[in-house]
Amino acid sequence: MISHSRPTIDDSDVKAVIETIKSGYIAQGNKVRELELEFSSYIGMQPGVATSSGTAALHLALIALEINDGDEVILPTYVCTAPLNTIYYVGAKPVLVDIDEDTFNLKVSDVRKKLTKKTKVIIVPHMFGQPANIDELLKIGLPIIEDCAHSVGAHYKGKKTGSFGIISVFSFYATKVITGGEGGMVLSTESKLLSKIKDLRDYDAKDDFKVRFNYKMTDVEASLILSQLAKLPFFIARRKKIAGMYNASLSDCNFTLPVSCVDREHIFYRYVVKIKSDVRVYLEALKRKGVMCDIPVYRPLHRYLGLTGFDSADQVYQSAISIPIYPSLQTREIDSIIKALQRVNERLS
Ligand SMILES: *Cc1c(COP(=O)(O)O)cnc(C)c1O
Repeated sequence: MISHSRPTIDDSDVKAVIETIKSGYIAQGNKVRELELEFSSYIGMQPGVATSSGTAALHLALIALEINDGDEVILPTYVCTAPLNTIYYVGAKPVLVDIDEDTFNLKVSDVRKKLTKKTKVIIVPHMFGQPANIDELLKIGLPIIEDCAHSVGAHYKGKKTGSFGIISVFSFYATKVITGGEGGMVLSTESKLLSKIKDLRDYDAKDDFKVRFNYKMTDVEASLILSQLAKLPFFIARRKKIAGMYNASLSDCNFTLPVSCVDREHIFYRYVVKIKSDVRVYLEALKRKGVMCDIPVYRPLHRYLGLTGFDSADQVYQSAISIPIYPSLQTREIDSIIKALQRVNERLS
């Protein structure tokens, strides 16, 4: 069985983790500081703040921007529930917007429609590794939090995602682009916001009391992420290579393939196609051929909240499937995936 996703871990990763464990310094320490420097410099930003998860990073970002009760936060409906949760953590009101059917990213015209006097910030995920329409979103003039959980190393107009918003957040969960098992990072153009976030991450040895968190990353996680970061250019090249193979082999199938946009570099965290027949039946047929595909977003947020009027997200939800793509996929596995898709396509469309 070919799994839908899995981390790409090699001996050098294992060695890095063992060295850290043996050093006796396993909680937040020098490795976390080293990662904060190296990761930020890779994105092209001043040193950020490492956290225990992407969710913790988003939570601290909203607090640092002073988002409170009654404030409205815009986010797309077609994303996992992590950003939605963090908006509720700070007592703010989520305002969902529809997506662009081709890129799966925020639909800018819908963002503009849903702005009110209370809108304080827009959360912008770069879905599946394809950068969102950043220029058009920045033109709105509100602060932007880039959610780069899918887009580490992706470029928009020659600059990396995570260098456009006032704050950007990253996730190092097991199956993300690079991993520490868990982990997150906050970057910002504003040093003041970073100091605030750093202070809130950790409760110990403070001169005053206010509500703070334990959102620290461990040195064990940081040493794994550092080891992965060194291989990131290779990981991205491999993802793009596999996407190219899928593009070439699946163009005759009855699919809508991923779009490429001028000035945007997609890193293919996910390879998502839209099919014309029933998604469940399709996934089941692929599974019988030994290939685990999946729906890319478990459930659009408006469906959890009982809201309607998100036609593009609904259309995508009913037609999108995510095909295995990760650096450790072997060539023979890629061949089996392509063959399985071609066969199932013939039979079901
Ligand atoms: C994974 C993910 C998160 C949350 O990151 P965790 O590290 O799992 O907390 C947030 N946003 C998006 C788009 C994600 O994919």
